[in-house]
Amino acid sequence: MSYFRIRSADSNIDLPDHLSPDKRRHRQITGVFLGLTLLFGGLLVAVMASMLVPYDAETVSVPHEFVAETKVEKVVEKPIPIAETEPQPQTTPQPASQPAPVTHGGNLSKVVYLTFDDGPGAYTAKLLDVLKKYNAKATFFVTCAGDDSLIKREYDEGHAVALHTCSHNYAKIYASDAAYFSDLDAVKARVKRITGYDATMIRFPGGSSNTVSANYNRGIMTRLTKEVQNRGYAYFDWNVSSGDAGNTTSSDVVYRNVVAGMGKFSNGEVVLQHDIKSFSVDAVERIIQYGQEHGFVFEKLTPTSYTAHHGVNN
Ligand SMILES: [Zn+2]
Repeated sequence: MSYFRIRSADSNIDLPDHLSPDKRRHRQITGVFLGLTLLFGGLLVAVMASMLVPYDAETVSVPHEFVAETKVEKVVEKPIPIAETEPQPQTTPQPASQPAPVTHGGNLSKVVYLTFDDGPGAYTAKLLDVLKKYNAKATFFVTCAGDDSLIKREYDEGHAVALHTCSHNYAKIYASDAAYFSDLDAVKARVKRITGYDATMIRFPGGSSNTVSANYNRGIMTRLTKEVQNRGYAYFDWNVSSGDAGNTTSSDVVYRNVVAGMGKFSNGEVVLQHDIKSFSVDAVERIIQYGQEHGFVFEKLTPTSYTAHHGVNN
């Protein structure tokens, strides 16, 4: 007696000869039904797999100060005319897996966290004036540079003053765990002296994903990212880079990079800028105007805010 088997060529089913025509027909229909079920099951799995692609494509670990500018530039809906001498940003098509607009309790997430590293500096006062004009809040990851009065202003005007290390010297801070915490303590003491406030929010120079630290100490970011949290700090990376740490010195490019990132992330956008760069500070007024016209609010980070953590690479 022969049994069911499926021919590789045409997938017809051979049935035992002794079966009645009705039974043969029944078994043939059953076989076809099973085949269709497997086919649609496979398609369903494929569709679900494609939907499961996470934000990773967008939450890119954009290395901080060293990234080529083209890697962080996004598609711009409304191109801004720029001088011909300016390098044109690459307009990369959005990936098909771009997540749909995200909702929080039925509302689109419309929070933008502007963050400014490496200050205070020569352009911080101007930046604070702009933020005040639009009643926008921001977060400053400060160092030991600049005037105390600027940190005082940041704090008094309702912004978050957070820590970015005192020296911002990679060779020094990433020489050892102890060296990092010694440098962090120094800037923490500065902020405490000026504001009376114990800062608990930090950002690593280069971000937690930096690889430059491996030049000085293998594995130090893996250890520090855990140890800072053990010590009660919350560390923040970013999910939108303005590109101002790359090759651009163009306010237009900074503006476009930031507004192109707005509204893309379910937990809001944590934007990386530097208030020691005039062209970056010069872009802020237009960034805020665009955001407020489109329903975004600019808030400061808090220790429980979305941290936009990168993957650790050292
Ligand atoms: Zn920095």
